[in-house]
Amino acid sequence: MKKNMNKVAVVGAGIIGVCIAHFLRKNGHEVILYDQNEPGTQTSFGNAGLFANKECVTANSPHLWKKLPSMLLSKNGPLVIDWFYVFKHLPWIVRFLRNCTTSRVEHIAKSLSSFSSHAKFAYEEIFNEMDISEYIVQEEPIYLYESKQLFENDQYAFNLRKKYNVHFDIINKEDIAKMEPSLEPIYYKGIVLKGESFTISPIKITKKIFDNFMNNGGNFVLTKINSIFKKGDSLFLRCNEGDHQVDKIVVAAGVWSNVLARTIGDNFPLDTERGYHIMFENNNNLLTRSVGWAKTGFYMTPMEEGIRAAGTVEIAGLKKPMN
Ligand SMILES: Cc1cc2nc3c(=O)[nH]c(=O)nc-3n(C[C@H](O)[C@H](O)[C@H](O)COP(=O)(O)OP(=O)(O)OC[C@H]3O[C@@H](n4cnc5c(N)ncnc54)[C@H](O)[C@@H]3O)c2cc1C
Repeated sequence: MKKNMNKVAVVGAGIIGVCIAHFLRKNGHEVILYDQNEPGTQTSFGNAGLFANKECVTANSPHLWKKLPSMLLSKNGPLVIDWFYVFKHLPWIVRFLRNCTTSRVEHIAKSLSSFSSHAKFAYEEIFNEMDISEYIVQEEPIYLYESKQLFENDQYAFNLRKKYNVHFDIINKEDIAKMEPSLEPIYYKGIVLKGESFTISPIKITKKIFDNFMNNGGNFVLTKINSIFKKGDSLFLRCNEGDHQVDKIVVAAGVWSNVLARTIGDNFPLDTERGYHIMFENNNNLLTRSVGWAKTGFYMTPMEEGIRAAGTVEIAGLKKPMN
């Protein structure tokens, strides 16, 4: 190992951990990637496949209060809340709601648009090094509004996107029919997310970056990390096979990150937006791009094996069985 290079453990081999491991290895560090599952098989497997390089709109909104009652009573809406879980985690909910004021939402949108704009360059760097083009479709996703009211309800989100340079075009019923002829011509309006694209296989992208990391001298250990601890000045990971000493640790364990970080006293308020997907096999030629629906909050994306319907936000923690 060269001078100033570290032995770094990255915990979590989802898309985030694999990309971090790739860049650390490229910079000459000795990198060991740990995961209790095969790389890319958890959240990074089941998503809707959209690249949202410039998104700045989150679930927090000053208008959430108005929408909340109808959203909360619906079991099939874009937001589903487990009340028992919420009452058990009131401090998190209070913090979430505090971040729904106009000034906080503006602050989040500004930070997020700046933060996520780096993702585009990082992905470009990766995609220039390994050929992933067969898994990426350069068709801009669209998001559809069934009624004038739904469209007007999103005015605040449109203004945020405009303010923070997240480009989109507004399209009408005829445009939608031309772009996606298989859809019923019933939509009031839609938006096109300019410059974005989607993947037909999220897992194959993660696997390709992972394989490249391994070919460049990276290491992978299939095990669960139970805790992180310090002994004197030394830093350790504890797994069932024993303790591993490293110089630095990156926790990239997705929604499980705070469970692990807590073992070394780092307690940050991370909760999960649970989501689901189902596959409609052999129908992938019905759509040319990823299509989202404002009313239900999910996307349908044509993937390798068929059309994947994915989305919704369920606040119910990590332990509850599937809804
Ligand atoms: C339904 C749905 C649709 C989505 N659609 C999109 C989309 O279209 N576009 C988009 O950008 N994002 C989307 N997302 C979000 C996106 O999928 C996630 O942000 C992303 O996959 C997170 O990657 P990650 O590497 O952080 O987590 P993960 O992929 O979950 O990886 C974390 C890894 O850590 C491992 N791990 C956890 N704890 C330990 C431990 N103690 N020891 C060892 N290993 C551990 C896990 O096994 C896992 O492999 C969607 C999410 C959902 C649920």
